[in-house]
Amino acid sequence: MLASGRKGSLILLVAVMVSQGGCGKTLQNFNLVSDGQEQAMGQQFSKEIEQELKLYDDPEVVRYIDDLGQRLAAVSKRPNLTYQIKVVDTDDVNAFAVPGGYLYVNRGLISHAENESELAGVMGHEVGHIVGRHGSKQISKQYGLQFITAMLLGGGDPGMTRQIAAQFAGIGGTLGLLKYGREAEREADTFAVQEMYDAGIDPVGMATFFEKLVALHGAPPSGFQALFSTHPNPQERVDNARRLISRLEVKDSLKKDSKRFQRIKSRLPAIKRREAKDASQGN
Ligand SMILES: [Zn+2]
Repeated sequence: MLASGRKGSLILLVAVMVSQGGCGKTLQNFNLVSDGQEQAMGQQFSKEIEQELKLYDDPEVVRYIDDLGQRLAAVSKRPNLTYQIKVVDTDDVNAFAVPGGYLYVNRGLISHAENESELAGVMGHEVGHIVGRHGSKQISKQYGLQFITAMLLGGGDPGMTRQIAAQFAGIGGTLGLLKYGREAEREADTFAVQEMYDAGIDPVGMATFFEKLVALHGAPPSGFQALFSTHPNPQERVDNARRLISRLEVKDSLKKDSKRFQRIKSRLPAIKRREAKDASQGN
């Protein structure tokens, strides 16, 4: 029953696409894919990703990251999706989202964030990509709706699925990383600022984290390549974040940091020396 229902709505989707025609409408029409279908797609990507990446399993760290991500997701514009949030065991400073609510936060990002609001800025941005369905839209743009249809019906090309999963996760180098485009990045930042504000977290952390990135941008140190490859205009993002924040009503209850964040950060292993020297952690 479930399978035929899914098939039915996919046929409807394809019919609407064909009747309206043209690539220009593809992105809007793609929203006809249900949460369940997007989740089914994300599940296949996440399975591939987790075969390649090592997850970090300190339960206290994982619980904290999940709590923080769920707080942001709960006040997002897509609160009813199930968000699965995991920590990747790498020094690289990055986080990434996979369609359907899968969110990965690198251990190196937690170490490099100075306070909770800086971490929440990056996580909120990735939640924003999920909220905006940017991943699914990019796949339909890059690989065509046919690929998605086949994948959801279980007849997709496994090699292609693996390749797209690798693009989301930056597995196998940064050259193949999936880029959402400037509009989507701006939208994700806009969502993030609002999510942070509504979750009681000071959104200024998003700006301060990017300000640090601006300083590094001329010569990105090792460990930052993936972040810069997918997010090439940190100054523009700082300006945009500051502008969005200036429009928000001042709220005294916004928190920049928490004891729990600092405790979690202190549990993490030290970042390897080659990265530490570029991250103002002294000699
Ligand atoms: Zn992004």
